[in-house]
Amino acid sequence: MLRTPYYLIDRAALQRNLEIIGRLREDSGAKVLLALKCFATWSVFEQMRPYMDGTTSSSLNEVRLGRERFGGETHAYSVAWADHEIDAAVSYADKIIFNTIGQLERYAPRAAGIACGLRLNPGVSSSSFDLADPARRYSRLGERDPQQIAAVLDLISGFMIHNNCENGDFGLFDRLLGQLEERYGGLLQRVQWVSLGGGIHFTGEGYPLEALCRRLREFAARHEVQVYLEPGEAAVTGSTTLEVTVLDTHYNDRQLAIVDASIEAHMLDLLIYRESASVLPDAGPHEIMICGKSCLAGDVFGTFRFPQPLQVGDRISLQNAAGYTMVKKNWFNGVQMPSIAIRDTDGSVHLVREFDFADFERNLS
Ligand SMILES: *Cc1c(COP(=O)(O)O)cnc(C)c1O
Repeated sequence: MLRTPYYLIDRAALQRNLEIIGRLREDSGAKVLLALKCFATWSVFEQMRPYMDGTTSSSLNEVRLGRERFGGETHAYSVAWADHEIDAAVSYADKIIFNTIGQLERYAPRAAGIACGLRLNPGVSSSSFDLADPARRYSRLGERDPQQIAAVLDLISGFMIHNNCENGDFGLFDRLLGQLEERYGGLLQRVQWVSLGGGIHFTGEGYPLEALCRRLREFAARHEVQVYLEPGEAAVTGSTTLEVTVLDTHYNDRQLAIVDASIEAHMLDLLIYRESASVLPDAGPHEIMICGKSCLAGDVFGTFRFPQPLQVGDRISLQNAAGYTMVKKNWFNGVQMPSIAIRDTDGSVHLVREFDFADFERNLS
C-alpha cells in the first residue's frame, strides 16, 4: 500500500469521460482542447491524446507544457501577455488568442506566422458565482462592442468565448449560445473558427449529448466556422481521489477525525467556493467531521456518514480530486504534498511523482 496522502487517478474512470469526448467530437464536428488550467497532470496525457485535438492554456508555462507534453493543436491564451513572453508563446502555439483589442494590436505583428484570435465577452454567463463569472460587472475578460471588434477583423481568424461554468443544463447553454449569435451573428460569419470555451458539463450523468452535438453542428454550419470546445472539468470529472489516512480522532460536540492532508493546501477550490468534499458511499450510523491537519481553524473537508467509527490508521478516499485540485496544491503549513499515483485498468497502482523536503525548500528562497 502506498503511503498517503496521494492523488489517485483512475484510468478506467478517465476513459469513461474520454469515450464521451470522442463521441462528441465525431457527432458534432467540433475540435476539443484540454484546458490545462484545470488539469495539467501530464502523466496521463498519452491516454487522453487520441480523444482530444490538443490543449488550450492561460499562460506561457501552460502553452509550453501543452506543446511539449500533449502536442496536437496548441492554443495560447492569456489575460495579458508581457512583452518578454510573446515571442516564446508564439513559438509554442498554433493559435494565439488575445484578451483585448489593445493586446491584439500590440502583438499581432509578432504573431504573424500563426493564427490570431480575440476573446469576446457576450455579457451573459451561466455562472452563479461572482468570483468565477466572466460576464460580471467590470469584467476584464474579453471585448464586448461589435463595432470595435469589426474594426480589427482583418487581424484575426477566429473568436474565443468562455461564458459557461459548471453548466450541466443544455437548455441554458442553448439559450446563451442563441444570445451570442444575436449579438455577434454578423461577425461570426466573417471568421473561420470559434472556440466556445469550457464549462459545459457534457460528461455528466444524463447530459443530452446528442442535442449538444446537433446544436454545435448547426452553429458551425450556419456561421461556416470550425467550432472548438475547451473542456477542463468535464474531461476529468470523477477520475481522481485524494487518498488520506486518519491520524487522530477528537470530540467537540461532534465526532472529529484529523487526516494527513489539508483542504487549503490540497483541495483549495472547495474552500474558495465554500463547498464540501465528498466521500462514497457516505452512509451509515456514524456522522464524523473530516478535518485537515493544517492549523487553519476552518480546514475541514466535510461531515460524512460512516458504517463504523473511524480509527487512527483508517483510510478515506475524498472524491473528485482532479479538476482545479492538483494544479492548485500548495505548501501551506509545510504539510506533506500528496504524491501522484495512477491506477491502471488492470487495477495495479503506480506512483508517478513524490514530493519531499527539497521540493518544499526549493519553492522559496
Ligand atoms: C477555465 C477555462 C476553461 C475550462 O473550463 P472548465 O469549466 O474547467 O471546463 C476553458 N477555456 C477558458 C478560456 C477558461 O478560462
